Amino acid sequence: MHAIQNPASEATLHVRWERLRHMLWLLPLLASLLFVAGVLTWAYRSEGAERDDRRATMIADALSSEAQLQGQLQAEQAHLLELAQQLPGLAHTPAALTRNPEVVDGLRRLWLGVTWLDANNRIIAHAPEQTTLAGLRPGDSDLPGQSAHLTQTVGRDKLVVRYSPALLLRRGIPWWLSLKYDVQLIDANEEVIASLDQRALRSEARSRESYMVSVGSNMPGAFLELSLREVPPPFWLTLPLVLMAGFLGLMLVATLLLRRQVVRISRAENAWRNEAAWRQAMEDSALVGLRARDAEGRILYVNRTFCDMVGLGAEQLVGLLPPMPYWPPDALDEVMLRSQRNLEGRAPRDGYEALWCHQDGRRLNVMVFESPLIDAQGRQTGWMGSIIDITARKQLEERERHQAEAMAHQARLTTLGEVASSLAHQLNQPLTVIMGYNAGLQRMLSDAGYDNQAVLHALSQQGEQAAEAGRIVRRIREFLTRRAPQREACDLSAVARRAADLLQRDLRVAQVQIEWVQAPALPLVFADPILMEQVLINLIRNAVDAMSDCAHAAPGGRMRIAAQPEGERFVRMDVEDSGPGLSGRTVEALSTPFYSTKSDGMGMGLAICRSVIEVHHGGMEAGSCSLGGARFSFTLPVFDATLHDAPEARLADEDARASLESEL
Ligand code: ADP
Repeated sequence: MHAIQNPASEATLHVRWERLRHMLWLLPLLASLLFVAGVLTWAYRSEGAERDDRRATMIADALSSEAQLQGQLQAEQAHLLELAQQLPGLAHTPAALTRNPEVVDGLRRLWLGVTWLDANNRIIAHAPEQTTLAGLRPGDSDLPGQSAHLTQTVGRDKLVVRYSPALLLRRGIPWWLSLKYDVQLIDANEEVIASLDQRALRSEARSRESYMVSVGSNMPGAFLELSLREVPPPFWLTLPLVLMAGFLGLMLVATLLLRRQVVRISRAENAWRNEAAWRQAMEDSALVGLRARDAEGRILYVNRTFCDMVGLGAEQLVGLLPPMPYWPPDALDEVMLRSQRNLEGRAPRDGYEALWCHQDGRRLNVMVFESPLIDAQGRQTGWMGSIIDITARKQLEERERHQAEAMAHQARLTTLGEVASSLAHQLNQPLTVIMGYNAGLQRMLSDAGYDNQAVLHALSQQGEQAAEAGRIVRRIREFLTRRAPQREACDLSAVARRAADLLQRDLRVAQVQIEWVQAPALPLVFADPILMEQVLINLIRNAVDAMSDCAHAAPGGRMRIAAQPEGERFVRMDVEDSGPGLSGRTVEALSTPFYSTKSDGMGMGLAICRSVIEVHHGGMEAGSCSLGGARFSFTLPVFDATLHDAPEARLADEDARASLESEL
């Protein structure tokens, strides 16, 4: 399965992540809150556990204390029973009762008094007298609380012992328990019967943790109550939690400060990003290449235009030291010297021209302006170069220079042509005279019966050569004279051979072989033979030039000139060569006026050829051929006597002449 990348969802994700990133300052506070919540939960739980422990201990303490009291009371009851068994032998006087050892012991322990009652609840005797008790237990006067009593029947009599519950508590409750608890005996109405500590108040005790247990049948309606002396503070008031609250407060302040700082930083970051994006956009859209170098010439930065200029990526360029990969390899020493000069700060203020190499081998002319590279502290750390590609401007200048030269050359040729034309005109006269004298002389010798064959042959040769010279001079005149088309029935292949004859010398120098192809019974065409000759001269000369310019061609090119019918109404002429070919260029492009790839070319040859062919109602095209080079072809209409001798044809011819004159 393919993972489908959705740019929209990616963008949303990015926006969310950015938002989240801007909230990161909250993280420490959240972590602290979590930590504090954890500590609070732990403290709450451990306080609960402690409370349960405390309560369990208190219950255990209360129950054991109650057992102690019960034990004491049962012991007292047993003593009372002992006393009761001694009563029958005892005198019915208080003194006798007071002297009884059981009574004395009881009063020493916790008894307050013993009362002997008869069946009618009348007091028989009472012990002790006040003085005796004071002697027995000093300090009893400050005993707090109420008193309680124990009863024992003896026959019909009854013994009642009054005792102090406070003393009972003092004797029955271990001392260490009283350090921990307030111990009290209370009745059903929650009135204090006795207490270990006089200060303990019931209302105060109520607010504390306490536990009550019934004392039992020996002291009916009484309860033993244990109240914790110290109330443990609630868990939120313990020191660690107070410190924790302080810590939270500090965290809050720190978070606010952090937030302020984060907001400032993110504002600065946004501003920086905007600025970087603008700078990048400006650098990328600039037509000027930028290159920053340090003092040793190491490349620190290049913009996209610079990379495009030299055909190398920024990652390939940054960090490089001279020599640079875009320097022309054939002039490394010279460029190295210039680079050294620039790094020493001696670069021309108004820039300098340089020749660089694109990665694909293309050369480019650049204009370089160097300026100091200053860092944030105001120190110069290197050089910043602004580079403008001036290749197109240079090429234009070069072309203009060539064209000016070609025009001058053409002007010289025109003058020369005119000189040659008038020379030919003037030579015509003496040649005609020579031919006249030669003919007269031959006739006179023949009339006189002179028969020296050698002299007669020489004279005839002289006449023929003079006639040939006359023909050559006339042809030169016709060739040099700008003329309008004078169409007639014309043998195209004969015209082509004449053109090749005229270029004989060039063909020989360039060692070009021409292969002639001619269809049998080739029809005549309706065209101006002189103009056709000029067209073919141009095509053959271009082919020779192309084959000679072609550096990798073997010396001696091949040409094929073919003439053959094209349908019934046209004749087609092909001029093919084994040169470099046209590299996809069309005839329209090649025949644009002043288009030339030759250093001394005028760029008018093909333009004129095409006009001449079109004026003759033909067509011209170009392409490749089996010889490996270019093929230039044109067609011309076949001569038709019925058509081309008609007056309308002559009229059309007049128009064509006018149009060609204007073009030429
Ligand atoms: P010129 O000969 O002055 O350059 P032309 O108009 O005759 O002007 O030719 C224009 C251009 O066409 C030439 O510069 C050349 O580049 C191209 N050209 C013409 N003939 C050939 C050929 N046979 N092979 C290759 N290129 C050709």
